[in-house]
Amino acid sequence: MSHEDCIFCKIIDQELPSAKVYEDEHVYAFLDLSQVTKGHTLVIPKTHTKDIYNTSDDVAAELFARVPKIARAIKETYKPDGINLLNNNEKAAGQAVFHYHIHILPRYGTADGFQPSWVTHEDDYTQQDLQQIAAEINKHI
Ligand code: AMP
Ligand code: ZN
Repeated sequence: MSHEDCIFCKIIDQELPSAKVYEDEHVYAFLDLSQVTKGHTLVIPKTHTKDIYNTSDDVAAELFARVPKIARAIKETYKPDGINLLNNNEKAAGQAVFHYHIHILPRYGTADGFQPSWVTHEDDYTQQDLQQIAAEINKHI
């Protein structure tokens, strides 16, 4: 289902150009224009879905099932040292295009343009704290 004013739906429908890496009935994969690293690819469902919260089990299953083979193809083509997968949900997390997508980011050395960084807080949480947080989340599943 195509969504009006969605640039990724327009890419799927070929109303906008893209460098297509892969396509099948459910999924479209193409190069991210920004090419943070060489081979930086976006994998999107053909069904318009805004973000992870709005993505059905079926659409997620079809989408994620294609990611390993696309990642393997990138690995085989450019022999990166590693690959990161990234998915931003909501503006606060850096989402700029509101059609669900997974970034595949091949990594080359230590200064390749992509710098994931996070601060760890394992000393601030006891095993009991972790059990409580896990139970709180689990209640909503
Ligand atoms: P995000 O910030 O996770 O929503 O990522 C959106 C990504 O889409 C950015 O990395 C953009 O470079 C990329 N992008 C936006 N428009 C296009 C386009 N027309 N073709 C390819 N990539 C695009
Ligand atoms: Zn869309």
